Amino acid sequence: MLIKYFRARFNIVYEAQFKIVLAILLLIDAGVRLYYQRGRKGFERARVRHERREKFIYYFVSLGLVPIFIYLFTSWIDTFQLPFPSWIRWIGVAIILTGDLLFVWSHRALGRNWSPILEIRKGHTLITSGPYKFIRHPMYAAIFIIGTGISLLSSNWIVALSYMLPVICMYLVRISDEERMMIEQFGDEYIEYIRSTNRLVPKLSILRAYL
Ligand code: SAH
Repeated sequence: MLIKYFRARFNIVYEAQFKIVLAILLLIDAGVRLYYQRGRKGFERARVRHERREKFIYYFVSLGLVPIFIYLFTSWIDTFQLPFPSWIRWIGVAIILTGDLLFVWSHRALGRNWSPILEIRKGHTLITSGPYKFIRHPMYAAIFIIGTGISLLSSNWIVALSYMLPVICMYLVRISDEERMMIEQFGDEYIEYIRSTNRLVPKLSILRAYL
């Protein structure tokens, strides 16, 4: 009885350290997003693609965060734990931080051209510098990297699925339309950019040139 009681208390404390770290990292991510979202105000839209679908996807992805909050603030879904040792969970922290760096780098490079849905803004420029030199979609790559880290850190498959599935759907539904929109806007310049880069993983030839 007593052993059972202490084991239960240990589990709560053990899990709480990961929950606190994840909460702090998510706050940082939200802060970065809000910071860059502010910089977008006052820019007029020149062209938009599938607005209703895009807004739906945006809310769908946001909804995926609900189980993460349930994980953080309650123990209701703690039974869906995966048996990861704690060192794997700490590697999850390092992966999230790496994804965060790529996320910030992408936002800085994309600047005012960033948008939560598919649109071209007045005065939109094609960015091929910063992380865009290596891949065409570093922000989506960052979101996948952060998701991998969150899955390892939480070690909870409800959290992992509820983050990853909507994000994968978003990527699959959106990616071709996004590139088509960019070709319509930038023509040969974007076609040449497609030829010289991959979507998510850098081409070896580009990496070699920089290493
Ligand atoms: N797919 C990119 C950007 C995501 S934000 C990434 O993962 O990093 C989505 C908006 O970014 C789109 O509406 C599009 O207008 C804009 N965009 C995408 N690639 C761009 C680029 N290379 N230069 C400028 N704007 C870009």
